Amino acid sequence: MAKEMDKIVALCKRRGFIFQSSEIYGGLNGFWDYGPLGVELKRNVKEAWWKDMITRHDELSVLEGAPSSFSMTGLDCSIIMHPQVWKVSGHYDLFHDFMVDCKECKSRFRVDHVTVAVRRVTGDKKPVACETFIVDAETGTGLSKTQSKRLDQAVGQYKKEFGDDIECEQVTMSLDEYLHEAPLGGPAAGCPKCRGELTPPREFNLMFKTTVGAMAGEEGTAFLRPETAQGIFMNFKNVVDSGRVKVPFGIAQIGKSFRNEITPRNYTFRSREFEQMEMEFFCHPDDSRKWYEYWRDRRYEWYVKYGLAGDRLILRDHTPEELAHYAVGTADIEYAYPFLSDGEYGELEGVAHRADFDLRSHMEGKLVLDENQELVVEQNEHGQPKYRGSGKDLRYFDDQARERFVPHVIEPAAGADRATLAFLCEAYQEDEQPDEKGKMQTRVYMKFHPQLAPIKVAVFPLIKKDGMPETAAALYRDLKQAGIACTFDQQAAIGRRYRRQDEIGTPWCITVDGQTAEDNTVTLRDRDSLEQSRIPLADVVAEISARLNA
Ligand code: ATP
Repeated sequence: MAKEMDKIVALCKRRGFIFQSSEIYGGLNGFWDYGPLGVELKRNVKEAWWKDMITRHDELSVLEGAPSSFSMTGLDCSIIMHPQVWKVSGHYDLFHDFMVDCKECKSRFRVDHVTVAVRRVTGDKKPVACETFIVDAETGTGLSKTQSKRLDQAVGQYKKEFGDDIECEQVTMSLDEYLHEAPLGGPAAGCPKCRGELTPPREFNLMFKTTVGAMAGEEGTAFLRPETAQGIFMNFKNVVDSGRVKVPFGIAQIGKSFRNEITPRNYTFRSREFEQMEMEFFCHPDDSRKWYEYWRDRRYEWYVKYGLAGDRLILRDHTPEELAHYAVGTADIEYAYPFLSDGEYGELEGVAHRADFDLRSHMEGKLVLDENQELVVEQNEHGQPKYRGSGKDLRYFDDQARERFVPHVIEPAAGADRATLAFLCEAYQEDEQPDEKGKMQTRVYMKFHPQLAPIKVAVFPLIKKDGMPETAAALYRDLKQAGIACTFDQQAAIGRRYRRQDEIGTPWCITVDGQTAEDNTVTLRDRDSLEQSRIPLADVVAEISARLNA
């Protein structure tokens, strides 16, 4: 699997999908640039999402699976917002990860889980931690191979020492539990790589700070948004007041977000600057469960439609323990990226039921759970709200039911870069095909859904004479005029030209050849089946358009 990833990364660089940012200066960790083909692919991913959410949305009908008809609208908010937004949303206090550094090999790890091997002498109630392993969050939730080996060795050693009197078990707990509640004692965890001594875990806020205007210090401090969702909550009232929208409705946004990730890794999967495609759906509290289920299933189907299928794509419902108490459900849509170990999946999108948490916070002030598991405004040491809300009334008035309420929110939050990466990984294919001389060669092709492919059609004159280049150039221009992304290539043997297009995922190639002058037909070649058929030159634009919209 990792080998497959190396091939994909190499292809992306070679053919201009993804480059390292500032590469000539050695790159900058966690930042990536999309090249000429990558920018088209990612634009197509975002366009497919926007079309599904906004452009093609039919607000007059009840769509399949939806509880009622609904409207959708878009938004494009600023990246830097009032700092109070992040204090009230919880990001200022809570949006952090834990990091530890190895004092010896200087590696840095992001940690959210710890695995403790516990031994207990039979009959003795007191368990003792005998080995503690920090789990590097980038490699999944399990131990690395070296760690598992070490664990087996330790267990073997205890068995030898204590014979059948020893019982061993493995407990995985969150870092929080380990630091605050773990009653087990035992040796501290060592570095997952070299076993060296680790620094104590330190909290690290993921928001990038910047300064607005000339004011230095706290007054001018602002943050680059770590998610696009808050901009939508900021404009909830503006949209209701200006757009005549009625609950239920959704507001969608695509835009950059920034997180100062501790260990950006796995290509573009965990970057420090990335794009999100988020939608907040506002509905009546009584209907929120149905809407949550609707969006969860619809978002999963969207990935299936564009080519992520089979057991590499999963929908994982959070367990009741993982859920915020006010939420009726949260699900992650996950993909088995080739850089992950077998059985591990990486998050593509989270679909969350957020109840009235966000709108209420921005009215009343930052909310926390009290001992009865109720949301209340968090107080400072003077008994005042720790972070004040806007004080604006963000309730919705339903003039037919004569009811005023804070809508509940369903949030499908997707990453445009993670989706693009998943489509790239899924598209990568190899097969064996004969070359011009009949010798079998490995063919690499990218099996993109036609709507996502950066280039839809390539036009070739078979040879550079007999009027073929002129006819092909005219066809190329007609396709461009029709808004179809296409390319023209008359260099090298036809077989090589086909391979070049296969490698960048162009679904169709059209060749103008000797027969074209006789009967006005051209060859249409299909990337996946390799089938070649003849179609009238005059029908090419209509045929490609029809196939693209199929
Ligand atoms: P993770 O657990 O992987 O850090 P998350 O749960 O923090 O992700 P969300 O806050 O739910 O992510 O953000 C919504 C989506 O934004 C994610 O599903 C993912 O597609 C994308 N995303 C989040 N962080 C990054 C990142 N550092 N790089 C690229 N995409 C990201």
